[in-house]
Amino acid sequence: MNAIHKAVHHTAVFDHPEMEDHENIVIVQDANTGLKAIIAVHDTRLGPALGGCRIWPYPTPSEALNDALRLSRGMTYKNSLAGLELGGGKAVIIADPRKDKSEALMEAFGRHVERLSGTYITAEDVGVSPEDMEAVARHTDHVRGTQATGLGDPSPYTALGVFEGIKASVVHAFGDPSLSGRTVSVQGLGHVGFDVARQLHEAGANLVVSDIHKPAVEKAVEAFGAKTVEPADAHKVEADVFAPCALGAGLNARTIPEIKARIVAGAANNQLQTPADGVALKNRGILYAPDYAINAGGVISIALAKPGGNDQEVRKKTIAIGDTLTRIYDRAVRENAAPEQIADRMAEERLSAARSN
Ligand code: NAD
Repeated sequence: MNAIHKAVHHTAVFDHPEMEDHENIVIVQDANTGLKAIIAVHDTRLGPALGGCRIWPYPTPSEALNDALRLSRGMTYKNSLAGLELGGGKAVIIADPRKDKSEALMEAFGRHVERLSGTYITAEDVGVSPEDMEAVARHTDHVRGTQATGLGDPSPYTALGVFEGIKASVVHAFGDPSLSGRTVSVQGLGHVGFDVARQLHEAGANLVVSDIHKPAVEKAVEAFGAKTVEPADAHKVEADVFAPCALGAGLNARTIPEIKARIVAGAANNQLQTPADGVALKNRGILYAPDYAINAGGVISIALAKPGGNDQEVRKKTIAIGDTLTRIYDRAVRENAAPEQIADRMAEERLSAARSN
């Protein structure tokens, strides 16, 4: 067997700024296939550590480690807040998904996931296709989101959760659940954003849409009678809700002073550039739906999908994202904190309770 698991002893790892209370970090090197990967298991108090596998041509192993540590911790919080019986983990494969990927590479990854005996459960992430996951699944059962275990594309569930989250945010901010006549600026009309826009349109909202991909914008104009804005100006729209559904870090020192909406609630990951930006939103009286709370529908679908395609449980848990946000907002008022601080507290409290059980 050429493959080896190496324990990480180097102090540069233990001193790593993203290193916290991670339970296990596995460095994978497989000479036969050239696989180089890091699997980070952050926390298993609530259950096996579920988190996607990302394939990316990281310039240095340290950057790969950085991502694995940071993203696995994020999954612990996301899975906890979503009420799943799952911990947080993440795998990164150091490779260019367009050039270096092969069936053998994915199969080797699957064998290494299998070695972790179910403490880590893998799934798709950036650079990984459904076909890649089928190759992984030939060597381990500890994989979600394959044809056998999954409901397919998680985006519709993410979009459903974001829509429910926007509704809960509107109730909190305006005391009125109706979306009819409300204006929403949807930035990014990809798998999630377009479906969020559709649900908002069907609920009677007015849409202002933006995307760097012009055909998506044209489609939304035609289907929903949406108005348009340049992507860079999406946050400046005179709207009730700004829904970032494209890239992260869109909420920052430059954009926050320009936001006119009372609510920011969208699918994008890592919307706040820094923690201070969440406080800045609060100080401006803008209600922010913590990204990992509102966009959890996808991971819920991956976690709870059952062969046969019955998605009732998934939909129920995804719709409950609205209730979670309501609890976050109410508590944020009581504790005079920003919603993302409360989300973290709630996730941590569930983890601590699991430890004492
Ligand atoms: P996607 O790639 O299908 O769509 C992204 C869209 O944003 C594309 O249409 C792209 O052209 C557009 N875009 C890119 N840069 C832009 C810019 N600067 N301004 C405006 N538009 C821009 O991705 P997706 O699956 O719809 O995911 C959207 C966001 O939601 C991402 O941040 C993703 O990480 C997050 N997210 C997605 C899921 C999911 O289930 N797909 C789950 C959780 C979080």
